[in-house]
Amino acid sequence: MTNYNNELDYFFRPEAIAVIGASENLVSYGTRYIQALLDFGYKGKLYAVNHKGDKVLGYKIYRKLADIPDTIDLAFITIPSRFIVDIVKECIEKGIKAAVLFTAGFSETGEQGRIIEQQIVQIAEKKIRIMGPNCFGPYCPEGVITVVTGGDFSKEAGTVALTAQSGQLSECIIGRALGEGIRYSKVASYGNASDINESDLLEYLMQDDDTKIITSYLEGVKDGPQYFDIARRNSGKKPLIIWKVGLTQIGAAASSSHTGSLAGTDTAWNAFFQQTNAIPVSTLDELTDTTVGFSCIPEGCGLRVAYVSGGGAGTVIGADACEISGMKMPDFAAETEAKLRELLPNIGTSSRNPVDIGNPHPPLELLEALLETMSADENIDIIVIRRVLFSVKMSKIFSGTTAPPEEQQQALLEVPVRVRNKYKKPIIIILPEDLTGVESIELEVERRNIRDYFFANGIPVFLSEQRTFNALSNLVKFRVGSGKDIIPEKIHKSVSSENRKIFLDILKKSDRNILDEIQCKTILKEYGINVTEPVLAKSEDEAVSVANNLGYPMVMKIISPQITHKSDIGGVKLCLQNEDQVKNAYGEIMTAVKEKTAEAVIEGVSLQKMAEPGLELVMGMTKDPQFGPMLMFGLGGTFVEVIKDVSFRIVPLTNKDAGDMIRQIKAYRMLEGYREQPAVDIEYLEKLLLKLSEFIEENPEIKEMDINPLIAYSDGAVAVDARIILDRKQ
Ligand code: ADP
Ligand code: MG
Repeated sequence: MTNYNNELDYFFRPEAIAVIGASENLVSYGTRYIQALLDFGYKGKLYAVNHKGDKVLGYKIYRKLADIPDTIDLAFITIPSRFIVDIVKECIEKGIKAAVLFTAGFSETGEQGRIIEQQIVQIAEKKIRIMGPNCFGPYCPEGVITVVTGGDFSKEAGTVALTAQSGQLSECIIGRALGEGIRYSKVASYGNASDINESDLLEYLMQDDDTKIITSYLEGVKDGPQYFDIARRNSGKKPLIIWKVGLTQIGAAASSSHTGSLAGTDTAWNAFFQQTNAIPVSTLDELTDTTVGFSCIPEGCGLRVAYVSGGGAGTVIGADACEISGMKMPDFAAETEAKLRELLPNIGTSSRNPVDIGNPHPPLELLEALLETMSADENIDIIVIRRVLFSVKMSKIFSGTTAPPEEQQQALLEVPVRVRNKYKKPIIIILPEDLTGVESIELEVERRNIRDYFFANGIPVFLSEQRTFNALSNLVKFRVGSGKDIIPEKIHKSVSSENRKIFLDILKKSDRNILDEIQCKTILKEYGINVTEPVLAKSEDEAVSVANNLGYPMVMKIISPQITHKSDIGGVKLCLQNEDQVKNAYGEIMTAVKEKTAEAVIEGVSLQKMAEPGLELVMGMTKDPQFGPMLMFGLGGTFVEVIKDVSFRIVPLTNKDAGDMIRQIKAYRMLEGYREQPAVDIEYLEKLLLKLSEFIEENPEIKEMDINPLIAYSDGAVAVDARIILDRKQ
């Protein structure tokens, strides 16, 4: 009896399957599914169900599920959508725990379909798990279960899992991968994700002992924050390779905050990848290469490449591809270089990185000695071999009668494997397929055999320099155990509901959705964020007396619900030194505002202390439709949208996220101190970002916000302007 630890196990290792919709018609999908399972070697019990009865492929067709004299683990349903609600009810009555809805014609087709889909989910709730509709379901060699057209898929189990909504695309990915030698633990095509979605599958695969690498083709996610949370928990555990298509559109144009308008279409996904350590790929080739890479080098690899070529020409291509991918080709240690110089002939070779052997079929001993020398170098993480002719046929074409004897060439194949096993340093081979275009299909067959041999021995083979370095740079992104970043305990120790009360009070008092500077700063101050406190004055006289109380130098700003960018219309006066200047400023602001925005309702002016000069930064928040709130950090001030030097992270932030997003901006050197600009208090800024992350989580009614500028000093920072935009429906 199969031991089911997780309800999703029923999909991958069912012992009894009922195929609902199988018929005597051999082209019906139900029947094709039975055929595929038989071809694949399914050993469990199979039952066909169709209200018309009859026989199919030697199986009796039951008219009703209830008539089957057995318990069923999985129902595979291929009947038209209008009958499915009733069938799901029958499945529940029969005690079935899992159903694949192969049938299309649901939410992907419009409102009618969406309603039926919803009905199914409601009926299914907690009683049966549904994969689909509009999907191919699971492929799992261990459970000897495959998809409708997967009778010929490999029966050998591997360690790679794949999830994709689209059935056809999963077939296409599996097909390519199998050809490269990749073998799967579990694959799920989950269609419209009415019940089981990418989050369920990711959580399941993360815990699945048979799965070491998770790959995923993603169009969108049902629940962004949940998916983000699970992916982040996986960080540093299993490589998660995501081929993401169709990036989200954010309403940048409609935004009234800087943060909103600075977030682009792929901002949230970029942040997602940085925060989860998941690996983004953008083509089928890249997905396949990266999967091959991780299959051979599961722990990922370092940046520093030793590149060795059987000829000089390709070294430049390799060096370029390396540089573009972000990998490095460092100098060898002096003793390595000296040893290489000794090993290589003086003429037509190079003993520096990239190494040129000057000969595409080097003697065995020479190749072995070269690889050993480079493997022993501590400056090197990984070795890439190109244009060494491992192919006997190729060698004959190139060298004719002077080609090395066949046995020697066969023995050449073992050299990289031996060295890799001895030094445990990854070795990669580039074996271009265009070489095989020269002659015949036998060359391609030989090339594949060579590739399979290396793959089986943990050495990935790639087709070109570019694809090699692209895949390797993806391997660099993953580091086992790198997922130790934590979301800090509440920094804000006092009871959060107390702080939130002030925010809710302000919300209650007015029905505006854009809070003014005074309201924003009151809230921020309550959360322990340092602000220049503004005081409202409704007349010139009031302004003078407030100013005298506060002390000089000081700043005056317009307060009007219609004016969010105050300095644009002459609504900010800085550095006021005395009563006269306050009076003048008041008059000038009123004239400017009336001239530029006649319709604006003026509530008065705010007066506040002039902050000391420092580095003007921005911190802000905007909401992504899929992932929710994202924090922004960058160079601030009135030119923030021109400079666009900002970084984003999805909320909640870990301490690592806060550190990374600060270090990621181009102007980071300025933050560390540059020319007259002294270093700013980076630790304080990190804490402030974490505090904001917490603040945002506590107050979901905030739709967008900016603190711009936040003036940073060598000790602390102060918010001199703030803007909060609400969405009260939250
Ligand atoms: P807005 O962004 O609506 O135009 P701000 O309040 O940000 O208005 O003011 C514009 C600029 O004036 C800021 O970018 C900052 O350089 C400066 N500024 C504003 N308030 C202060 C202050 N209290 N201390 C020092 N400089 C200030
Ligand atoms: Mg501002």
